[in-house]
Amino acid sequence: MARDWRKYLDETDARRRDRLVKIEKIKKQKRSVRGRSVDDWLVDSALHEGDESEAEFSVRLSTLSSSGQRRGRVIEVHKRNIFVAEENEEGRPETELLWLCSVAKRHFQRAHKERNFVVVGDRVLFEPDADVTLDSEGQPKDTNLPRGVIQHAFTRHSRIARRDPLNPEWEHVMLANIDLLVVVASVFHPEVRWGLIDRFLVQAELEGLPAAIVLNKVDLLDNPKLATAEFMERYKKRVAIYKEVGYEVFEICALKPRKTQSEVKRLRESFKGKLIGFAGHSGVGKSSLLNLMKPEFDQIVDENPDIFYKGRHTTTYNSLLQLGIGAYAIDTPGIRSFSVAGFDSITLSQCFPEFRGNKCHYRECTHDHEPQCGIKDAVEEGRISRERYRSFIGLLKGISFREGEGDSSEAEVIADLKARSQVRDEKLKELDNIANETGNEAGNETRDEEQ
Ligand code: GDP
Ligand code: ZN
Repeated sequence: MARDWRKYLDETDARRRDRLVKIEKIKKQKRSVRGRSVDDWLVDSALHEGDESEAEFSVRLSTLSSSGQRRGRVIEVHKRNIFVAEENEEGRPETELLWLCSVAKRHFQRAHKERNFVVVGDRVLFEPDADVTLDSEGQPKDTNLPRGVIQHAFTRHSRIARRDPLNPEWEHVMLANIDLLVVVASVFHPEVRWGLIDRFLVQAELEGLPAAIVLNKVDLLDNPKLATAEFMERYKKRVAIYKEVGYEVFEICALKPRKTQSEVKRLRESFKGKLIGFAGHSGVGKSSLLNLMKPEFDQIVDENPDIFYKGRHTTTYNSLLQLGIGAYAIDTPGIRSFSVAGFDSITLSQCFPEFRGNKCHYRECTHDHEPQCGIKDAVEEGRISRERYRSFIGLLKGISFREGEGDSSEAEVIADLKARSQVRDEKLKELDNIANETGNEAGNETRDEEQ
């Protein structure tokens, strides 16, 4: 570290001048992207000074920002309150150093097409709130956490977004800065729905995010009543398909991790140093999986394995969690079933890695009915699997089921899913009513209204 600081102090005048020129230019253009003020750009410009170290970056920040500002990471977003963890010198959030923040007023009136100023995973600069009302003991009245005000939000290196269901021309960013999207499914209870996995993978590809697949409850594959020969054939084929495309696939038993020790170890290795977004329906074992990663507090595992769709209880909010294995996780109730809709075939086919590099006769080929289609040829020749091609067509036509298509998606299964989600929706409504009555922060804006 010390060396980096000296390097900064030794910075040449030319480099300093360059930076000033750049900042002046930004000021002149008064560029505003996602409603950010010139100040934000000043801070951001410091972030993009080439390959400087975190320590150098910290020094830059302290020269650019007024004294007393701290770096933080957004942990949880409620309607009025934002939980922010202080970042250490390496830029890692210290989740035990929490602040309860609001957003500086000047960010409220920005003309931009995004719902929230900050989302979970965002890196911010904040300062202690000077206006907070204190009780006789010098504590903020409504919280035992220190209060702060978010002054800046940095540019995101990645994000998970969807179209805002309340305001279609707006974007609803749900998560920021994740390094890996882990799609979790269980082989049974509930049975893996490959179509849903494909949708999550498409979303990851669209955002340029690496993705991995975790298949949990493989112990149930030992049960011949569940895992028929026919199922096993389909299952093995599927696993091979995703591996062939280039996705990491982990087959684990979170309940009895010893059964799949080497896979769990491999998983821990691949998580290290990353901020991971977990996607997948409740009931597949996400909490059980997180508990294998030494979370800062234990995740509640649903006792009744037959209930696929439990109420959200503790997982109402997207929340960033520190893992003892040297990683961070965001369990993402909000991306259980985002809709991938309105794709043009070119964008969509780019989101299937194995489709890339196949040439079609027509530039605007939808790979559906056109002659001389490189994709369809590849399917015929077995270079692209029929299963993934089917997913593509389903997504293109917007006919995939909301819950995702499985290989054995009979009408019965779908009807069952619908009935279950209806029950769940009613339960949620009840919970919302209770929350409203008690004046809770029920209107959290990062919540998934589609659930
Ligand atoms: P989440 O809703 O995705 O967080 O899932 P949970 O971790 O709460 O698990 C849902 C249910 O699946 C619980 O009853 C767990 O005991 C069960 N479960 C989790 N992992 C396994 C596994 O590897 N094998 C089996 N058979 N059941 C599991
Ligand atoms: Zn084509």
